[in-house]
Amino acid sequence: MRTIYLDNNATTRIADEVLEEMIPALTNLYGNPSSMHHKGAEAGAPLALARERVASLLGALPEEILFTSCGTESDSTAIHAALIANPDKKHIITTMVEHPAVKTYCEDLEKKGYRVTYVPVDRKGRIDLNTLYANLSKDTAIVSVMWANNESGTIFPVEEIAKKVKAAGAVFHTDAVQAVGKVDINLADSAIDMLSLSGHKLHAPKGVGALYIRKGTRFAPFLMGGHQEMGRRAGTENHSSIIALGRACTLAAEKMDEENTRVKDLRDRLEKSLLESIPNSFVNGDLENRLPNTCSISFEYVEGESILLMMNEFGICASSGSACTSGSLEPSHVLRAMGIPFTAAHGTIRFSLSIDNTDEDIDTVIECLPGIIHTLRQMSPFWAEAMAAQGK
Ligand SMILES: *Cc1c(COP(=O)(O)O)cnc(C)c1O
Repeated sequence: MRTIYLDNNATTRIADEVLEEMIPALTNLYGNPSSMHHKGAEAGAPLALARERVASLLGALPEEILFTSCGTESDSTAIHAALIANPDKKHIITTMVEHPAVKTYCEDLEKKGYRVTYVPVDRKGRIDLNTLYANLSKDTAIVSVMWANNESGTIFPVEEIAKKVKAAGAVFHTDAVQAVGKVDINLADSAIDMLSLSGHKLHAPKGVGALYIRKGTRFAPFLMGGHQEMGRRAGTENHSSIIALGRACTLAAEKMDEENTRVKDLRDRLEKSLLESIPNSFVNGDLENRLPNTCSISFEYVEGESILLMMNEFGICASSGSACTSGSLEPSHVLRAMGIPFTAAHGTIRFSLSIDNTDEDIDTVIECLPGIIHTLRQMSPFWAEAMAAQGK
């Protein structure tokens, strides 16, 4: 059976070009980049190139890039650094729709005596800027707002927010894990102090990430030990994966146009067709300001998990809008924050595309999904009830 992979916001396939560049790093270049001999130097050179490549995609300086083990570590490092570097400030501002990497850490900090403001979003997943600005104070150490939401695809005006945050004397961090490679980023022209990214969301391997730290930003390391990464992150570098991340960043720059034209067109065709062929369905997110690859679509009166299982029978991989943690099928915190009604939040599917997808992939979903939803609705007491209420 052919795999139709439409879950690229969860993770991506390692691109061939990226894998190719990793192989020497896993074989011949086995020296420790910190060593003072030719094997060390040989390993250090591609590491330096990777740093330049990541910096170049972001419009940053190589020395502003810190390599980490993942997007989560980058997020934790940024928040931790801002709090340690500004010990008198005990207030954090973030949003209600952050990835658990930010959300869970902030919830933990509340237990440790910090005050956290979670800024709400509207029905389209757009952040309430007035609430954010009204909560800025002298006590605010850091404001962390994601660049783009991984579920709805909604893009936040982080550059505008960063300016206001800076003027108020706080540090601004953005989790740009979903934005990097999909939207233009030029940190040289922005007021953003720190930015997180993750390799496996842009066709590099899992287990590598980076944190941009603007030159001059006060910083305190999260991992302490050796002097790697200019003393900002101890631990021998994940050498081959960092090299892969560097190549993935040049690839992302090369493919950004395709992402915003061909991939976006595939997404739009998928969305338009599903809305037309499946009644009681709607798209979530800010349609004017959205990632080009993401489609969050709700089918009322069906269970997302059942849809996923049935699509899987056709080789289709997507994800649902539920947090299956603790065995409950609670709609995700993102859909709840957006106020999506329960009957629809439960039947929400996220399709996330990439440069790997083809017209054929989209055709398959368009062929299969209307039948799947129809079948599930025939078995749904909620659907029967809703139709009866409408006299159908
Ligand atoms: C995937 C993701 C992360 C976590 O990155 P990891 O490398 O898996 O730790 C953080 N934020 C967002 C928005 C993500 O989509």
